[in-house]
Amino acid sequence: MPSGSSTPSDSKRQRVLPVPKTAASMRTFEPDSSIVSDIIPSPNYGERNKARQPDMILLHYTGMPDVEGALARLCTAGTEVSAHYVVLEDGRIVQCVPEAKRAWHAGVSSWAGEDDVNSCSIGIEIVNRGHDWGYPEFPLRQIAAVIALCRGIMLRRKVPSHRVLGHSDVAPARKKDPGEKFPWHSLANSGVGHWVTPAPVVRGESLMLGTISDAVLSMQQALAKYGYGVPLTGKYDAATMEVITAFQRHFRPARLDGVADHSTLSTLQALLASLPADGATTLASK
Ligand SMILES: [Zn+2]
Repeated sequence: MPSGSSTPSDSKRQRVLPVPKTAASMRTFEPDSSIVSDIIPSPNYGERNKARQPDMILLHYTGMPDVEGALARLCTAGTEVSAHYVVLEDGRIVQCVPEAKRAWHAGVSSWAGEDDVNSCSIGIEIVNRGHDWGYPEFPLRQIAAVIALCRGIMLRRKVPSHRVLGHSDVAPARKKDPGEKFPWHSLANSGVGHWVTPAPVVRGESLMLGTISDAVLSMQQALAKYGYGVPLTGKYDAATMEVITAFQRHFRPARLDGVADHSTLSTLQALLASLPADGATTLASK
């Protein structure tokens, strides 16, 4: 409806954000992105190690029952967690930490041989209750805001598409977010993130927990070449299964079983083949 459906005070009330008490007293800052709607400063950040310039975007879900609790956790001293941005379900974007600073969102993690993911990344929390609270679909309006935010960061900071990743990619043993419902293909259609159409799931041989073979070693090497932190042992152990599950969550969500079937392995090979020439990081070269 073009007008008259709500009074000005109604629309104003809808825009009020639950600002945690401690954040209200903190010094504010200029947003890095022009599409930020609110600043809620968090005290939980530090300096980037060795002045590392961020060249990765890490996407999360908040995994909490409501947005009030999520913002309070991210913006209260002592919780030791934060993120640069929070994207609400209605598409509003809140900035909590300046991009130049090191926010605390990744925890123990690794990608392409780097362990200090917080120093090399920008963290975006997407409001979603997550697997423990029913895991709703991500509204399109929210995804559109994530895309716009990421595109701006990628342009300003020269973040390559294959370095837009999920928390579960860099911490497969601990994390599931943003999870298998996150529409990575929609992001890729808008130039955000690396994606190939997943190879179809078909019957056939597969590698799974307990397998020890050269084929397992080749698979581990391919995963490591793409960036995953995975043991190079030739043994399909629990850690390897967690990495395959994380890979499926992101790149082949049709079947999430930790079994490396033909579809999983050929999707991985297609991703490697479509990386930019200098994109793949081999552990051997480190
Ligand atoms: Zn996370």
